[in-house]
Amino acid sequence: NTSQPRLPSFLKHPIPSGASYTSIKKDLRGLNLHTVCEEAKCPNIGECWGGGKGAATATIMVSSGIVAPLTSQLMGDTCTRGCRFCSIKTARAPPPLDIHEPENTAEAISRWGLGYIVLTSVDRDDLADGGAAHIAATISKIKQKAPSILVEALTPDFANKPVETIHQVATSGLDVFAHNIETVERCTPFVRDRRAGFQHSLSVLAEAKRAAKAANKEILTKSSIMLGVGEMEDEVTEALRRLRESDVDVVTFGQYMRPTKKHMKVDRYVLPEEFAKWKQVAEDMGFLYVASGPLVRSSYKAGEFFIENVLK
Ligand code: SF4
Ligand code: SF4
Repeated sequence: NTSQPRLPSFLKHPIPSGASYTSIKKDLRGLNLHTVCEEAKCPNIGECWGGGKGAATATIMVSSGIVAPLTSQLMGDTCTRGCRFCSIKTARAPPPLDIHEPENTAEAISRWGLGYIVLTSVDRDDLADGGAAHIAATISKIKQKAPSILVEALTPDFANKPVETIHQVATSGLDVFAHNIETVERCTPFVRDRRAGFQHSLSVLAEAKRAAKAANKEILTKSSIMLGVGEMEDEVTEALRRLRESDVDVVTFGQYMRPTKKHMKVDRYVLPEEFAKWKQVAEDMGFLYVASGPLVRSSYKAGEFFIENVLK
């Protein structure tokens, strides 16, 4: 499409390779597990996966584990939603849940010796609980098999589901409850699926924090914003203000990249300097940690942040 801005050089990245990358990929296929890293064609896959399985790059040794974020995607590869930026497959009634997935995921993760794992999932509006029990079961199995691993769950919004679904995930033993607002309020209807709502997403984050506190569990909450979809500066500031109002601790900013020509266009490529500015603005507003850069994804370097900033 000729009206797309040209891809700047700071967004070009190397093709993933290496022993660690190849062997994680093989394990995943053998256990019928999916990752967002692959499904969403994340540009950081070489860097993130290269850190696992004892590889020398981008790793921090922590107790027994290696910190290497890797995003494991629960509940299959098909979503009931169709957000306009997302390359995940969509269907009204995806295949039933794999009842072995919580066990297989926990098994694979404990085998890789990671220090930090990001679990995410497709949205399953077709299930009565939106998949909350499945996500919570996966988290508790991981904590049983590998108690030292830190777990971040990037959750659906559980729209039109009982509020207990949020409580179940928030109190399952996870360390970081993440849910992405993705963009500013005005852009939400044309960026996210029509069932997603800006205010609802904020309330999911606030409710998770409240439920965890009530259960005497310490969690951090986290959200992400893609830049380059048409947002205005004051709208981003307002989104940050409302995230803080919802007691959100961590925020990340990344560049929207169009996965295929069928997806919404990139409005603009945001310069590294602007990402640096948003990092400063968000830090000044009191966020505990901010990751901001053209190639930052919500899970990018999540483990490093947690170890360096929270467990010190
Ligand atoms: Fe996977 Fe996140 Fe790393 Fe991308 S940034 S490769 S989605 S862990
Ligand atoms: Fe993608 Fe939207 Fe489904 Fe999430 S809810 S997996 S962003 S289509």
